[in-house]
Amino acid sequence: MNERMYELGSKRSVIREIFEFGKKRAQEVGADKVFDFSLGNPSVKPPQIVEDTLVELLQTEEATALHGYTSAQGDYATRKAIADYIARTHHVETDPDYIYMTCGAAASLTISLSAICNRGDEVITFAPFFTEYRVFTQTVGAKLIELASDPDTFQIDFALLERAFSAKTAAVLVNSPNNPSGVVYSESTIQRLAALLEEKSRQYNKTIYLITDEPYRELVYGGVKVPYLTAYYKNTVVCYSYSKSLSLPGERIGYIFVNPQAENAKKLYLSVCGAGRALGYVCAPSLFQKMVARCQGVTSDVSVYESNRDLLAGALRQYGYACVQPDGAFYLFVKALEEDANAFCERAKQYGLLLVPGDDFGCKGYVRIAYCVSPEMISRSLPSFKKLAEEYGR
Ligand code: PLP
Repeated sequence: MNERMYELGSKRSVIREIFEFGKKRAQEVGADKVFDFSLGNPSVKPPQIVEDTLVELLQTEEATALHGYTSAQGDYATRKAIADYIARTHHVETDPDYIYMTCGAAASLTISLSAICNRGDEVITFAPFFTEYRVFTQTVGAKLIELASDPDTFQIDFALLERAFSAKTAAVLVNSPNNPSGVVYSESTIQRLAALLEEKSRQYNKTIYLITDEPYRELVYGGVKVPYLTAYYKNTVVCYSYSKSLSLPGERIGYIFVNPQAENAKKLYLSVCGAGRALGYVCAPSLFQKMVARCQGVTSDVSVYESNRDLLAGALRQYGYACVQPDGAFYLFVKALEEDANAFCERAKQYGLLLVPGDDFGCKGYVRIAYCVSPEMISRSLPSFKKLAEEYGR
């Protein structure tokens, strides 16, 4: 057996551990006394048009075609619908032949990293970051360089980034809106990042890629804009997923978009196809490919998340907790009320509050609260958050 795979398979992620604990605890003390904020599972149902489209497809399309293999890189009509939508919405050049359909953002990332990295390469990312980035980069034989972000804003700390590049840097990996901080990178952050990537690519005489992980692109509040990165830096690979925007995480559908204006774009796209093939990620789920082709521009009702955010962030600030303003996704990244976030989470458990320590996200001293839960559960949990703060003298 492969020892590394054994290790990965035998150790559950911290989030999963907490989720399992929550289920057990609910049986012991009653579900109404457990406030599980551990998992990023959308709490808003998919838009009605998703169900209607699936029913229509099932009733009208010939079954062997509907459930059959598509091209390895995905159905052309689907790739065309996506390319047209991106061009229409973000005013950037697109091409269906630079889109590769995948099983969600996780597959988009592992394929893109495999396509770009060689053994010993480095991939720079910014803490806090999605915990699986470590697993994904290690699997392709690359090293994840984890950089702290500006502690006041969780935007990129450019002084740190400048020093982090090396001849081994293959890519910079960003995630905005961010899991777990909820922060959206401003246009000025993106412009500085693009300029620095140009400069460092010149300095090291190589193409340094920008990989952008975007499952939360549409989950933004208060009119905040999420810059479309191919418009700022040509060597960009977009990793997209419908898991959160259409509330379909179990259906495993997303895509990779290679900017047709990237250097050696055709070679890069063919490497993506090769990585998809090598990893066994060919022909993403056919029924869902056909559904997304007809539902471009549709998003779940994000107003529910926005009011959850306002309710929870407002109350927590009143009780003396601090968190950076989350403009997107459905997470709050809150400063723990003691140095050790693990100890703080254990204390929170005594009040039925299941929170995730920030350590695995590369950021000690914080906890993640996933507010993709019912508004009613948030309201019921508030007295517990208040009592917990009072225990720390707030
Ligand atoms: N990237 C980030 C930042 C995420 O939060 C997630 C899932 O929560 C993923 C990737 C994986 O998404 P998917 O379920 O579409 O594979």
